[in-house]
Amino acid sequence: MVAVNTAPLSLYLHIPFCDHRCAYCDFNAYAGLDALIPAYTDAMIREITVWGALLASPPVPTVFFGGGTPSLLPLPLLERIITALRAAFAIDAGAEWSLEVNPGTVDAAYFRGLRTLGINRISLGVQSFDDGELQRLDRIHDAAAATQAYAAARAAGFNNISLDLIFGLEGQTPAGWERNLRRAAALAPEHLSLYALTIEEGTPLARRIARGQAGAPDDDVQADMYEQAQALLAAAGYTQYEISNWALPGRACRHNLVYWRDGEWLGLGAGAHAHLAGHRFAVVASPAAYSRLAGRLAAPPAEWLPLLTGGGLPWIRSVETPARDRDLADAVAMELRLSEGLDLERFATRWGQRFEALFGSAASELIAQGLLRQCGDRLRIAPERRFVAADIIAQLLAAR
Ligand code: SF4
Repeated sequence: MVAVNTAPLSLYLHIPFCDHRCAYCDFNAYAGLDALIPAYTDAMIREITVWGALLASPPVPTVFFGGGTPSLLPLPLLERIITALRAAFAIDAGAEWSLEVNPGTVDAAYFRGLRTLGINRISLGVQSFDDGELQRLDRIHDAAAATQAYAAARAAGFNNISLDLIFGLEGQTPAGWERNLRRAAALAPEHLSLYALTIEEGTPLARRIARGQAGAPDDDVQADMYEQAQALLAAAGYTQYEISNWALPGRACRHNLVYWRDGEWLGLGAGAHAHLAGHRFAVVASPAAYSRLAGRLAAPPAEWLPLLTGGGLPWIRSVETPARDRDLADAVAMELRLSEGLDLERFATRWGQRFEALFGSAASELIAQGLLRQCGDRLRIAPERRFVAADIIAQLLAAR
């Protein structure tokens, strides 16, 4: 086999099964397909084995099971996947192993099993501590279940737990949002991800809003709630390290930092994406098609790139090799999401040109407007403007 990638390579594994479809969700996730889980597991093990051989077992610093609902995987099947990963890749002894958990799917024994399998970080999809809000989101759990799941994870020995919350729901008041934030902070998780509710086309919530049965989120209210969160979490000892993410010192999500710092990763499983050696590719979205196609390759050939671009990996649905300009723009957009900002020296080394030569006048204008700040060799979104970071980044990139 030819070693094409000796640089660290993070792994994302997509588990697309859900117990029930939440009202706001447009992820690649499916309810009612549980019968497919064993075949899907076999296919994923096949994909892991093929990639491990094609890439000659590169070093892996982080592994992330996302979904969907990874905690719907029965422990024996998860164990088979993890055993395959350890056999196919050189996973660091101190690797971060994250798994997303829906509080409505787990008990204490499940968390103990995850610990035994080597999972060391839990991302718990709480979304709200208000039962009325959870019902409006069509979540399968209530606030008590979320709190119990958190306690069970702690009791099982997890010392790296993240909670997800959603804000800006219809009917949610600043006082109600503050109660959510205080409940979360009182649990003292190591990490928090906060997302403004967005209405995605084709979701049940979008249909309810179109029929007048629900109200759309209000941008101004969400902006105020974001500021509320920034103040409250700072006072509780959390550092905001990304537009939507806060952590205690040293507890930023190492896996997600790979995306934001323009690192390389391989996505495995239905609908997963990869960014590897200048190529981007995506796996077929349908879990049934993936289960069928990923089992087809009998033996991994020696060269991965001709195989990938020539359509020889049947479960890959698209492959592209973006022009340098697009790669560069995407890297700028991702790095500016981080509170640490864009490293101007690293940019020059990585791209062979100074940032100022490409974006200087647009950046100066945004600095003059108080939207960007330059501190030494770092360019950052102003902290009080992070809620509109996406607009600021778009302005910067459009002005080039
Ligand atoms: S549990 Fe998560 S992935 Fe599944 S439907 Fe709800 S929001 Fe979507």
